[in-house]
Amino acid sequence: MSIRIDKSKCTGCGACTRVCPGNLLQLTEEKDGKKSSIRCSRDCWGCCSCIKECRFQALQFFLGADIGGQGAVMTFKKAGGLNEWEITLPAGEKKTIAVDPKNANQY
Ligand code: SF4
Ligand code: SF4
Repeated sequence: MSIRIDKSKCTGCGACTRVCPGNLLQLTEEKDGKKSSIRCSRDCWGCCSCIKECRFQALQFFLGADIGGQGAVMTFKKAGGLNEWEITLPAGEKKTIAVDPKNANQY
């Protein structure tokens, strides 16, 4: 699977479920009955739409061996008008790629 879900950060807002082109994400009730979270029903193809939609960094894009990665994870946040992708390498080192959404399609 290309995404990982941090249930401790998921608020159950459901925003990610509305953008998945394959309708792969469902809200589930946690065992304590108080909090819902998300689960991915099948293997996703890593379009990253859900990761960009989550405002709580509860979703991570997993760069595993199946796509040529080495286990790094990537999260998304908006900061100062920029889209920021934070990559955490397996050893813990972090790198950030900042993209101005106004220029995102020029490459
Ligand atoms: S990465 Fe894309 S295909 Fe995979 S669960 Fe998220 S929105 Fe769906
Ligand atoms: S957008 Fe984030 S916080 Fe909201 S349901 Fe999806 S994973 Fe949870």
